Amino acid sequence: MRGDQYAISKIDKDTPNPFALRDLMKESALYHSTAFPLRNVYIEGKTNFDAVGEVMFESVEDKGLNDSLEGAMMETLKWIAYEKWLDTPKTELEKFDCPHCGKTVASLAFDEEKGKCASCSGEIYITDMFGLHLSMTDDYAPNQVASDYMGVSETLMIFTPIRFFWETKKEVLKSCLFVKDGPLSLRATLAKLSASIRRFFEFAKSKGIEVALIGQEKSGQFFDHLQLIGNAAPVGCCFIPDNEYIQEQIKHNNTTAVYGADTNYGAKLFVKMNDYHKMVINIPTGQRGEFVTAPSQTNLINFKNIVATLPKILSNKFEGALLPIELANKIASLSTYPSAKTLELFADATKGTS
Ligand SMILES: [Zn+2]
Repeated sequence: MRGDQYAISKIDKDTPNPFALRDLMKESALYHSTAFPLRNVYIEGKTNFDAVGEVMFESVEDKGLNDSLEGAMMETLKWIAYEKWLDTPKTELEKFDCPHCGKTVASLAFDEEKGKCASCSGEIYITDMFGLHLSMTDDYAPNQVASDYMGVSETLMIFTPIRFFWETKKEVLKSCLFVKDGPLSLRATLAKLSASIRRFFEFAKSKGIEVALIGQEKSGQFFDHLQLIGNAAPVGCCFIPDNEYIQEQIKHNNTTAVYGADTNYGAKLFVKMNDYHKMVINIPTGQRGEFVTAPSQTNLINFKNIVATLPKILSNKFEGALLPIELANKIASLSTYPSAKTLELFADATKGTS
């Protein structure tokens, strides 16, 4: 959902005017949905294994079921996977497991979405790089496949406007805050994108553009830990745990491993704005594209602007709530809500001054 900060700041935080909310939500949303054959269903002439792989590819393309994205998600996937922001992007994808022969020889040349396996000549999709087939058999796909797809599509959707502005008018990014519901991380084999994403934030920063992105966690171990430490914390403070604290106090792991080193593209922060608004947010870090084990404020991309903006987007409806996320969830629950088109939605912002 796209929102205008000025309009959001005009909304009464305690008793929002429903008409003001309606205006804010009007033609501001993009949708994405899909369906996977997981269990007790099959597509004639195909194994579920092949069907899930195909659905995954067709869904990221998103040209048919819901044409509002106009293929923008696939463009974003390629933009991240081939690191197309670079003057010399990747010439091919890092080798991954072929879903047909299982050999780690599958790859695609720059900007390709489909190709052939170098070993068995089976058809390879760019979405096979996520390796979701590794957990599937011919007839069975675990539910995890669907939640993994959701993780990928959420990431691609939040990066679609970032890519769009980067390619059309980079300066717009300086006045945007991107807000994602959930952590800035991709689990297991999906994490292949995380390193590229970290490198993008670093690269953009080196070009003088600090892209402000946050992810808010409203469940999980970090959120539970917030309940434990939040009340005693002083108002107006933020706490950035390092790896040692995370492993010992939050994950309770007796390990030397670095939490999130492969999967996360943002550091975790506990923020207490006031007694009612305490939250766990993630902010991307910049350190030569590497994972930062003991992040400080200076590592967090655009930290100052982010914390200055947070008070203006709070919602008093729920504890620790952010209005953009609340509105996006509200729109998602209205199944008949009209979806805008990607290009129209973001093109407006490149024309205006806000
Ligand atoms: Zn193969």
